[in-house]
Amino acid sequence: MDHLDTRTLQQLDAAHHLHPFNDNAALAKKGTRILTKGEGAYVWDAEGHKLLDAFAGLWCVNIGYGRKELGDAASRQMTQLAYYNSFFQCTTEPTILLAAKLAELTPGDLNHAFFTNSGSEANDTILRLVRHFWAVQDKPQKNIFIGRHNGYHGTTMAGASLGGMAGMHKQGGLPIPDIHHIDPPFWFADGGDLDPDEYGLVAARRLEAKILELGPDRVAAFIGEPIMGAIGVYIPPMTYWPEIERICRKYDVLLVADEVICGFGRTGEWFGSEYFGFMPDVMTLAKGITSGYIPLGAAMFNDRVAGVLADQGGELAHGCTYSGHPVCTAVALENIRILQEEKIVETCKADTAPYLARRWAELGEHRLVGEARIAGMVGALELVPDKGRRAFFDDRGTVGQLCRDKALANGLILRATYDAMLLSPPLIISRGQVDELFEKAWKALNETAAELGL
Ligand SMILES: *Cc1c(COP(=O)(O)O)cnc(C)c1O
Repeated sequence: MDHLDTRTLQQLDAAHHLHPFNDNAALAKKGTRILTKGEGAYVWDAEGHKLLDAFAGLWCVNIGYGRKELGDAASRQMTQLAYYNSFFQCTTEPTILLAAKLAELTPGDLNHAFFTNSGSEANDTILRLVRHFWAVQDKPQKNIFIGRHNGYHGTTMAGASLGGMAGMHKQGGLPIPDIHHIDPPFWFADGGDLDPDEYGLVAARRLEAKILELGPDRVAAFIGEPIMGAIGVYIPPMTYWPEIERICRKYDVLLVADEVICGFGRTGEWFGSEYFGFMPDVMTLAKGITSGYIPLGAAMFNDRVAGVLADQGGELAHGCTYSGHPVCTAVALENIRILQEEKIVETCKADTAPYLARRWAELGEHRLVGEARIAGMVGALELVPDKGRRAFFDDRGTVGQLCRDKALANGLILRATYDAMLLSPPLIISRGQVDELFEKAWKALNETAAELGL
C-alpha cells in the first residue's frame, strides 16, 4: 500500500483538518488513525494492521468493502454524463430508475423519492415538505414535529433539532422552534419492574400524552429511528411501534421512520419498519442505500403526502444542486442489484443473523455485560459494574472507551457509546468471521475487566 508515512499524514491532518465528532485538540495530540484499504469485512490502517470492521464504517458498508462493480458503475456514468441536475424540468436515467426501484423496495405506498446528499438533508427535506403539506391544506399551525430525547437524525439545523442529543443542542442554538421530544424506549434503564412488552406500550403512550398536551391540530409528524442507533442501539419491545402507529393514525399525525441505519437489510428485513410491523408515511434513507461507497440520501413519501405536494404544493422551493446526482444514483442501483442478486439480506435473515445472535448471547454471559441486545445485524453489549443489576457505571463512558481500545488492539472495530459496545458489521460477514468477532470481543472484555480489577 503506497502512501506517505503515517507521521507526516498525522501532522498535516492535525494542522489542517477539523474532524467531525472529535475533540480536535485531543486528537491532534494523539494522532489520527488513517485507514488505507478495505476488502470484504476488513479494513487496514496505515500501519498495516488488519481490522475486522464490526461497525461497517459508520453503519453503512452493507455489501462490504472493495466491490469493483460500484467503481465501474461510477466510472461508466462519469464518462457518459458526469452531472446533470433535476431542477428545471430535467433529470437523468439512473435517477429515474433509482426512484422507481426504491418505490418497489420500500413497503406499502411509499412511492415517491426526493433525493439529497445525506440523511441529514433528507430529514431537513422532510421537515420542510411535511410542514408545507399541512400548510397547503389550510393547516399552517399543524407544524410541530415530535422526536425523542437521545434520538439521532443527523447534524444539520433540522436534523440535529429533530434529534434529541443534548450535547448537540448546546452548540448553535438548537432546537429550532416547534420541535418537541419525548423519552425514548429503553427498557434496560427505564423499564423498572415492567416486562418489556408492557413497557413498550407505556413508552409509546408518551407520544399520545405529548400530542394531547400540544393539541392534535398542532402536531404535524412524529419521527423516530426504528432502532435508535447512535445513542446505543436501543431496540424497542415489539409492542412499541404498532402502538406508535395507532396513536399517529388516531390524531392524523404523520409517521416518519428514519431508516438511515435500519434500511437496506440491517435488521434482516429490507427495512426496520418491516421488522417491527408498522407502516410509515414518510421514510428517511441514506447510508446503506449506496453501502457508503458514495454520498446519497432520500426522503420517501407515500401517495397521500406526495399527491398533495404535487397537486397543491406549487413549485417546491427546495432542492440541492446534487439532488439525484447521476453518479450517486447509478452507484446506488448497482449496490441494490448486488444486495438483491446475491440474496444478501435473505442470507442474513436465514443464516448469519441467527448465528450472530447466538454468539452475541454468549458474549452476554461475560461478567462485564449487563445486557446483550441484537436485532438482525445490529446490536449492543451494555457493560455494567454489577451483572445482577440494570445499572450503569458511575463514570459513564470510561469503561466503554477502554473496551473499544482493547478491541482495536486485538484487531476488532467496535464503537462505544457511553459503556455500550455497538455492533453493526457488513451484512456479508461470514460465520467464520462471526467466530473471529466473538473471540476478539471476548478477549477485549476480559482485558477490560482485568484492567478494572473486576
Ligand atoms: C447517520 C444518520 C443520519 C444522518 O445521515 P448523514 O448522512 O450523516 O447526514 C440520520 N439519521 C440516522 C438514524 C442516522 O444514523
